[in-house]
Amino acid sequence: MVSGAKKICIEAEELLNNAIKEKSSDMQIGFPETAFYLPLANALLGSEVKTLSDAKKILSAARTLSTDIPPDENKWDTFLKDALNSGVSAILAEEVICALRYLNGKEPQESCFGFMPDTLLRSLGIQLVDGRISGIAVILGKAKDDKAAVDIVRDLQKRNILTLVGGSVDGVSIIDQLKEGGLHTGLESYVVPFGRDTVSIVYVLNFAIRAAMTFGGIKAGNAKACVDYVRERVPAFVLLLGGVDELKAATGAGALAAGVPIITDLDLPEIKAPGVCAHEECLVKEFDHTKIVQKAIEARGIKVKMTQIPIPVPCSAAFEGERVRKENMFVQFGGKYSPAFEYLKMRKMDEIEDGKVDVVGPEIDMMQEGSNMPLGIVIEVAGRKMLQDYEPILERQIHKFLNYAMGIFHMGQRDMNWMRISKDAKKAGFKIRHLGVLLAAKFHDEYGAIVDKVCVRLITDESGIKKLLPEARLAYAARDERLAGMTDESVDTFYSCTLCQSFAPDHVCVVSPERLGLCGAYSWLDAKAAHEITPTGGNQPIKKGKTLDAVKGIWDGINTFVYDKSHQRVNQMSIYSLIDSPMTSCGCFECIVAIVPEANGVMVVNREYTGETPAGMKFATLANSVGGGNQTPGFLGVGRLYIVSKKFISAEGGLKRIVWMPKELKEVLGHKLTKRCEEIGVPDLLDKIADETVTTEPVELVRYLEKVKHPALSMPPLM
Ligand code: SF4
Repeated sequence: MVSGAKKICIEAEELLNNAIKEKSSDMQIGFPETAFYLPLANALLGSEVKTLSDAKKILSAARTLSTDIPPDENKWDTFLKDALNSGVSAILAEEVICALRYLNGKEPQESCFGFMPDTLLRSLGIQLVDGRISGIAVILGKAKDDKAAVDIVRDLQKRNILTLVGGSVDGVSIIDQLKEGGLHTGLESYVVPFGRDTVSIVYVLNFAIRAAMTFGGIKAGNAKACVDYVRERVPAFVLLLGGVDELKAATGAGALAAGVPIITDLDLPEIKAPGVCAHEECLVKEFDHTKIVQKAIEARGIKVKMTQIPIPVPCSAAFEGERVRKENMFVQFGGKYSPAFEYLKMRKMDEIEDGKVDVVGPEIDMMQEGSNMPLGIVIEVAGRKMLQDYEPILERQIHKFLNYAMGIFHMGQRDMNWMRISKDAKKAGFKIRHLGVLLAAKFHDEYGAIVDKVCVRLITDESGIKKLLPEARLAYAARDERLAGMTDESVDTFYSCTLCQSFAPDHVCVVSPERLGLCGAYSWLDAKAAHEITPTGGNQPIKKGKTLDAVKGIWDGINTFVYDKSHQRVNQMSIYSLIDSPMTSCGCFECIVAIVPEANGVMVVNREYTGETPAGMKFATLANSVGGGNQTPGFLGVGRLYIVSKKFISAEGGLKRIVWMPKELKEVLGHKLTKRCEEIGVPDLLDKIADETVTTEPVELVRYLEKVKHPALSMPPLM
């Protein structure tokens, strides 16, 4: 591995020298959409590599890490230390090589992700905390054949493990084996190809190390804390398959140095050493491909929650994003093709029979291949702790649960749903009835604390749908009205969410009826239901207590709770202020609100927007200063829907303060935003709020705001 590390350092130096010769040492270098420069160099050395000459310093640091003397295998401590240092030098050099490839337009490789941007890290982070992803597997190399490759990945998918695939052996890559085996790759299937050579594994490692800085709030350059974070909190492992050479050995040592254990099908000496990875096992071998996933899970200590559901197709969150294309569709329901709806209602305990599934109308065997059929899904639930308020929360899960089944595709909700069953699922024996079996099992599994009984009716004839649809539509409308009427003043209890503490240890979201969690996933009702389901979990009721400041939204009960749960880091939190003791931000936020002092207002930027903003920073850079569980006056991570809440930074004047937001965010908020502008008496506010098509420059922004007479300019000074 020492020779591998040295060789890759030399290769990186040659490439870098050539680049400097061709361009110049001031030439900019970096990865797309990140605030962490070259993240490994940033995390481990504290360097901000912006130019080719900065990269030179990284390579000389890498060179000093790899010793010229081969490690002495008889002296275990020094052997491991030297090996890990060589590994670090290899991955630092590889990161420079990958950045040079970006500079030369050679990355990402065909059908590969390459560098994974910060926004992806944030969205995957939330899936890790809420349990949709139970771990991260990195497969490097090739399996013994296409089928074995597909079987290993399917095994990982069934266990909700995000699988990053890449590398090759003798010119064969696992990526192409999966393609040949007919397995769909992509983020939505939890199978992400990163690159076809060993060097590109650096995209995985610099993805993992960014979690430490993004969610853990660890400062760049604190290498030990960054590695400790990855070891303790990022449940990742490497499956090294099919062959090893000196570069793979050096890179593998780099993975170990970053706290990621390796499981291999090769006959290599196993390594056990405390303090390197989460458990003693650092390098483990398992020749049998049917057992290697289980072995890896045990070695990394990943907790996998799997429920066996009696349906004839595999079922897990990893299949959630798989689409059923028209060519592979056996039958479809709803969308623009046929009438369909889904409706969940609460019943009394003695009114329903648990587990009953009825199909009213033709079963799948009586349907034509390629046909459009009607479908009504009516779910009745009963439970001692069930409340009518939970109906919409549970109904929303239908989408997720049905998509868990391989070969079932579901979109939309209520009477705007669309579903397909694939030919493969039909061939495997999947029936309409199994939709009900799956739904009943998942409701019991995930919502057992509030749901004691579930029964499902699946209506596949049009007359049955016509009979029930009016009742469902009345219920949808009544729910909307009930929710719209809920205010912070109407309750004495808010809810906490501390799920993100697994990444950002001091972060506490306070969720109120008019302010949802900053990831956008938890409304007050969601948090309330989650508390019923797991009374000791991350969602706890917080009595507001005595009002200390009604305008800023400060209560003594909230302060006491937050002080305790933030490990005494935050002693006051105002729910409605951006400036005075704002809420902490973990890193999963959908949007960032940031003060624009020149305009006496604020800008809001959503994480999907990658361009410049009037704050002089892109989302990724802003997110870097806001996240980590800190209170940052003037900056706030928020859920998208909070923008259209009456309580949106109401202490600073609310919606009228927004002077800039990306066009797509305006469009996504659509009529909700227009309605709010009307409610506050400025119906043309949306036109007065600038976006990137107007400007991203503060000076021009102020000029525009003056021209359109934006209300922020005449509001009291923000600071
Ligand atoms: S509500 Fe807050 S703490 Fe909970 S998952 Fe979302 S961002 Fe994380």
